[in-house]
Amino acid sequence: MVKTPQLTALARRLGADLLHDPHLNKGTAFTEEERDRLRLRGLLPPRVFSETEQEMRVLENFRRKSSPLERYIFLSALKERNETLFYRVLIDHIGDMMPVVYTPTVGQACQEFGHIFQRAQGLFVSAGDRGRIAEVLRNWPERDVRVIVVTDGERILGLGDLGANGMGIPVGKLTLYTACAGVDPRQCLPVTLDVGTNNEELLKDPLYIGTLRHRLFGAEYDELIDEFMTAVDKVFPHAVVQFEDFANSNAFRLLTRYRDAACCFNDDIQGTASVTLAGIYSGLRITEQRLADQRFLFLGAGEAGIGIGDLIVAALGREGVDAAAARKLCWFVDSRGLVVGSRGNLEAHKLGYAHDHPPLRTLLEAVQALRPTVLIGVSGQPQTFTRPVLEALAEHVQRPMVFALSNPTSKAECTASDAYEWTGGRAIFASGSPFDPVTFGGRTFVPGQGNNAYIFPGVGLGVVLSGARRVVDEMFAVAARTLAQRVTRADLERGCIYPPLSSIREVSAHIAAATAEVAFELGLATVARPSDTLKWVKAGIYEPNYMRYA
Ligand code: NAD
Repeated sequence: MVKTPQLTALARRLGADLLHDPHLNKGTAFTEEERDRLRLRGLLPPRVFSETEQEMRVLENFRRKSSPLERYIFLSALKERNETLFYRVLIDHIGDMMPVVYTPTVGQACQEFGHIFQRAQGLFVSAGDRGRIAEVLRNWPERDVRVIVVTDGERILGLGDLGANGMGIPVGKLTLYTACAGVDPRQCLPVTLDVGTNNEELLKDPLYIGTLRHRLFGAEYDELIDEFMTAVDKVFPHAVVQFEDFANSNAFRLLTRYRDAACCFNDDIQGTASVTLAGIYSGLRITEQRLADQRFLFLGAGEAGIGIGDLIVAALGREGVDAAAARKLCWFVDSRGLVVGSRGNLEAHKLGYAHDHPPLRTLLEAVQALRPTVLIGVSGQPQTFTRPVLEALAEHVQRPMVFALSNPTSKAECTASDAYEWTGGRAIFASGSPFDPVTFGGRTFVPGQGNNAYIFPGVGLGVVLSGARRVVDEMFAVAARTLAQRVTRADLERGCIYPPLSSIREVSAHIAAATAEVAFELGLATVARPSDTLKWVKAGIYEPNYMRYA
């Protein structure tokens, strides 16, 4: 039942306004009584439909679309029309729809953003807004913003610099906050920092939506970010900021600069690390080994790779392995070959993993020399886990773990069927973008998707509900352990090291509770500790139910 002041305010609105407000619109589900009371009679087809019937219609239309991009456009338009119905359908069909609202389709949507653009979503902060960013933030119609996802569009998925077209990413990620964890959509703010693009194709594209200029860099860039972070603190003091798809030179710097000064995290570094560590923990349940028994080889030493390495080192610390010894279990191959101490000009984030070893040029040489038990692809380079690489991997390890995490699907280091076929069906495989089940040697394998969506919505919800002042690494470590515990024996028997997406809201609630516990434990929370954290989290979850205007 709507409270009286709200009711009075609503009653003053004309029906037509209500039909154009996606938060309040119910479309054909407005009841007879509501149609009279809200002056909607005649503005809708006469028959009243239930939410279930509306959902049926959405599904029919969704399936009728001939391509994933058309489905993306269709769902975006639904969200702009009737947000409640959009989330109802998305939650009920998360497995089918997540690849459309997020990776891989969102990648194509960003590439073509200016061409499929219909209506602005999120907030754009441009280089020209320097000096008045707080004013721009105040233009956002909602006041109680709790989660901000921000990108500068420089490294969108594995697709590179897409400038302001990157807006598809914060919009998509925040959709997942609501669908996967139940953060109220009104508390979510997608932001794109339109600092220019160095993508010449986009600058020549007549329908590109960003400012036509090359990227800001150096002091000017840093000052803009600084003003943005200060403005967020002023205008939305209770918001957690998620940095998303920044190029790695900026991503590491910004995280180092703000992690102790603001409530923020970087999903590409910390969220990826957590979901990958969870997959490794699940894989260890299959092999019945310890983390400390593994040797990790990464292809790619960027945000994802170093983030995963650092979290593995922290997790090994809990098992009593000191940091120096733990780092020696992690090896990296980047575009110049094996990361070793003798290589000059290594970027700062790689230094901790530059071990003493003769230089090696190729991944195959590294696999042969280092005999890893876990191979992790985070290079953005497709088809780099070749047949010789995977055969060499399987030569020395009974159940090698293979993570082909590069997104979208076209960038994956190998396909699921390659991984099973070239290891004789012994690989424990997961990927960044989804792959269909594979039948090999009479067995059907269900490849797991190491999707960050298992982690960041739950961690974010835990931070929001506990009012945590900071986001700390321990939250990502407990999130990994919690996620691995949610994988059932039946999942593992199918070769799947992540729980089914259909259980993601339950998974996120557990992760949120574990995250909040860390905040309470470390004195970071700003609300009172509840007696039953999981129950308290579940009570704070947004459900897409229509408002009753009675
Ligand atoms: P990044 O740009 O920070 O790092 C890429 C790294 O790959 C760099 O170290 C680069 O030197 C290396 N590299 C480039 N070409 C190479 C080559 N030919 N051989 C070996 N190494 C090479 O990017 P990132 O944020 O670390 O992301 C990398 C990839 O991981 C992207 O495709 C991204 O989509 C994917 N990713 C997946 C998930 C997930 O599925 N959960 C999460 C985050 C990132």
